[in-house]
Amino acid sequence: MTYLAVKQLNKRYGATQIFEQIDFSAREGELVTLLGPSGCGKSTLLRCLAGLTEVDSGEILLQGSNIVPLPPQKRTIGMVFQSYALFPNMTVEKNVAFGLKMQKLSTETIRQRVGEALEMVELNEFARRYPHQLSGGQSQRVALARSLVTRPRLLLLDEPLSALDARIRRHLREQIRRIQQELKLTTLFVTHDQEEALSMSDRIVLMNRGKIVQNGDAETLYTQP
Ligand code: ADP
Ligand code: ADP
Repeated sequence: MTYLAVKQLNKRYGATQIFEQIDFSAREGELVTLLGPSGCGKSTLLRCLAGLTEVDSGEILLQGSNIVPLPPQKRTIGMVFQSYALFPNMTVEKNVAFGLKMQKLSTETIRQRVGEALEMVELNEFARRYPHQLSGGQSQRVALARSLVTRPRLLLLDEPLSALDARIRRHLREQIRRIQQELKLTTLFVTHDQEEALSMSDRIVLMNRGKIVQNGDAETLYTQP
């Protein structure tokens, strides 16, 4: 079943076309990787899905309804950035709980949900630490927990591993994949790294200069001319 369908999406900044006629879809629980060189429009596309940037035209159907008119907080979409973006003056648990601030939940529910999210990323013992006491990989896991705690319908990952060294990158990649599969969380993962795309995707959408140039599983991607 189609869970996410992006249809004929267009975006320009002034005279510059950032992407055009973007069409792709994801099934429920699928991890789709958007692979393409730096500057081809991947981040802008993710920001448009999250509602952080407006599209010029097109539709984004999530579970059958068009979310383009909805503000970001009504889309129930989680997003993780390359640069963690944690609040430096808040502990790990406060950072994660922040994701729930917009929802009216009891203190007990918040505490429980934050605990669950930290457990998923294996950071329970770090709940009272501050971001400056964390490594890059740990910081990114906090950022992931902050998204997961909101129970998003769709998870967007914008080059979440790029700032990390190779060993941590591999570990975090496996952790993301495990969590994503356990939760059956439909995920769009953006990267410019081909090896990364091949190692963790159900499907790869290849993007270049604002257009989708190929779409398929890892094998068809490299056997087609
Ligand atoms: P990628 O994520 O693939 O590296 P981006 O979506 O970040 O690509 O950028 C695609 C193009 O859009 C780049 O040329 C970038 O400079 C341009 N761009 C991104 N954001 C803006 C903006 N707010 N205003 C104008 N141009 C932008
Ligand atoms: P990324 O590393 O995700 O590709 P960029 O370096 O392209 O990000 O962009 C960082 C920020 O600057 C984004 O918020 C983007 O929208 C903005 N930006 C990028 N290019 C331009 C541009 N040409 N004009 C205005 N804003 C831009």
